[in-house]
Amino acid sequence: MIRLNDIIDKVASYSDIANEDLDFIKKAYIYSAKVHSGQKRVSGEPYLSHPLEVSSVLADLKLDVPSIVTGLLHDTIEDTLATHEEIKQLFGEEIVFLVDATTKISRLPHVSDVEKQAESFRKLILATAKDIRVVLIKLADRLHNMRTLEYLPEDKQRRIAVETMEIYAPLAHRLGMNWISVELEDLAFKFSEPGEYDRIRKTVSTKKKDWEKYTNEIVSLITAKMKEFGIRGDVSWRFKHLYGIYSKMKKGNISLRNIYDILGFRIVTASENECYQVLGAVHSLWKPIPGRIKDYIALPKANNYQSIHTAVIGPFGEQMEIQIRTEQMHRIAEYGVAAHWRYKEGDLLENGNDKIYSNLRHLVELKDIKDSAEYLEAIKGELILDVIYVYTPNADLLEFPVGATPVDFAYSIHTDIGNHCSQAFVNRKLVPLDYKLKTGDMVEVVTSKNRAPNRQWLDFVVTSKAKNRIRSWLRQEENRKAEQIGEVITHRKLAAKGFNLRHLREKKKFEESLAKLQFSEVKDFYRAVGFGDAAVTDLLKAMHPRKFAEGAEKSKRIKSIVNRISKDEYKDAVLVKRYDNILIKFGKCCNPVPGEPIIGFITRGRGITVHVYNCPKLLEVAPERRIDVAWNDEYSGRIPVGLSVRCENRKGILSELTSTVSGLNVDIVRADVSEDEIGQGDARFEVAVENITQLEKLIESLKNLGGVISVERLTEISHPRPDDLNREGA
Ligand code: MN
Repeated sequence: MIRLNDIIDKVASYSDIANEDLDFIKKAYIYSAKVHSGQKRVSGEPYLSHPLEVSSVLADLKLDVPSIVTGLLHDTIEDTLATHEEIKQLFGEEIVFLVDATTKISRLPHVSDVEKQAESFRKLILATAKDIRVVLIKLADRLHNMRTLEYLPEDKQRRIAVETMEIYAPLAHRLGMNWISVELEDLAFKFSEPGEYDRIRKTVSTKKKDWEKYTNEIVSLITAKMKEFGIRGDVSWRFKHLYGIYSKMKKGNISLRNIYDILGFRIVTASENECYQVLGAVHSLWKPIPGRIKDYIALPKANNYQSIHTAVIGPFGEQMEIQIRTEQMHRIAEYGVAAHWRYKEGDLLENGNDKIYSNLRHLVELKDIKDSAEYLEAIKGELILDVIYVYTPNADLLEFPVGATPVDFAYSIHTDIGNHCSQAFVNRKLVPLDYKLKTGDMVEVVTSKNRAPNRQWLDFVVTSKAKNRIRSWLRQEENRKAEQIGEVITHRKLAAKGFNLRHLREKKKFEESLAKLQFSEVKDFYRAVGFGDAAVTDLLKAMHPRKFAEGAEKSKRIKSIVNRISKDEYKDAVLVKRYDNILIKFGKCCNPVPGEPIIGFITRGRGITVHVYNCPKLLEVAPERRIDVAWNDEYSGRIPVGLSVRCENRKGILSELTSTVSGLNVDIVRADVSEDEIGQGDARFEVAVENITQLEKLIESLKNLGGVISVERLTEISHPRPDDLNREGA
């Protein structure tokens, strides 16, 4: 077990420790030993070994005394009887904040693993926004837990390894902390794919000895050349890390058999100038391979990484990879945010102009995504470091994850440009919006105010910004449509009861009734009606409790008619391309009639449901479930439709109505006549019609009868207008 003195020695090697600092660290050590006493790690070691190791990693990162102290205390609130109050009293505000921030969200009851993971991560990122040390402590904690993962049961090993691979290793990489991300990746690799890990580890370790003669020779050749040119610097070589080799192998980029693929040389110089001089020296020794020189000094990576990369044909005709950087660049490449970390009061993310802080800002910005799975997906997407660089028409260089499209590009410039992008040009050639951009592309997008995002875009965009903006636009659009539909329904239903919506809205009672139904605005009510979450009768009941008390019975009656219609007795009426004998149902919501434009939806295990093309139900269904359907011209049966006829309550009107119906050769399946509260007659018919023309003719004739006030089809939609069709990306 590591001793406290080892940690103190490490800290003393990079900073002056005052006596009170020393006392503070010792006090934390004694307290931690006391509250963890008797606890053991799964490995059998005393629990205290874990906080000590975490502090030691923090000392390796050369962090300050409060970080070292927090390392010692980080599990006290989570795993012992220690309380927030006690830590605050003994160690102060700064320490209790850091300990709290690294404490997992405690036992949320009835919450899924995904939610726990999402909430813990959300908390971590928000605390990191206040103090960057939080994430560094968390990474040190995770690193030691990964180093001792072998003691956990296998299912836990796998789960933690996957989380490390998906979130913590990329997070360390984003923060520019190469050595931590590389170690986390290799450990996660070891536990998630033990077989592959072993195979690569064995090959690499046997090759190490075999190739010493070769690597030594190359190192001395470069060193001699540098001397000749008067350049100061060190030459070294190394094998790539195991997971790096594995992932490149998987992509088919390298082979384990080819040693040159898995080793690399590195030259660390004293100054930036000398980096370019070394490049020249190396290229004078061996021919460079065209297209392989990358200058990350002039164009640093997103995590501040700087180096020159080149590949040359070596003395034996082999391909050699060489990295060139200064000592300062090397330190930043390994330690990242920990290398130039400084603590300031206030919001670091607000003040830091650094690229790494802007990476963190991107993560923080995702905090408002409420759905846990969506949040984690967005975080993982944001952490991907495989990037491409493209140019704007003004020659600004922008960075994107691999796989980004012109739509991602458009959203990165401005939400409005994303929402209205209609065409994309790459290197002045027209490309589809789902075109995958490549490094060096010059991208231009054209907007059109008539163009709007559609659901298919979600299948190809890769940046979380684009995904979020498209989702929120679609949600708004759905709400807007539902509001419109809801207003029409409300207007019609009220009119059917003899009320005028516009007059009602001016009454105080109207607002009060909406409030009674928990709607703060009439818009919210319309939207609920549009989505089918509220009924207009609820509003009527709230306004006139006595009058509409037994409205329930009436709505049952309507339902029984509509239910009968939705049975699949009429399936021969519709043809589905490529499918015979498939189960067909008609949407209860819109009950289409032959001649109306229709669309089918594939339902899980229940065949196809046919809706009118502009049925509000379509808003809820994913477009990939759409299927083209057509009316069967040979179908000679009839389709039942419910009609509600409102008329003056006078003698003989019922027989006039029925004779009008049968006069048009339409069957009456069922009739219901009632006298309602307002003193008018309300007749409900279920008729069977051949097609929409016949139905429209019938409605027209009924309307022309003396004493008829209104005729309504018992569906909640209006007839489709031609300009409504084919609107959304179809
Ligand atoms: Mn811990």
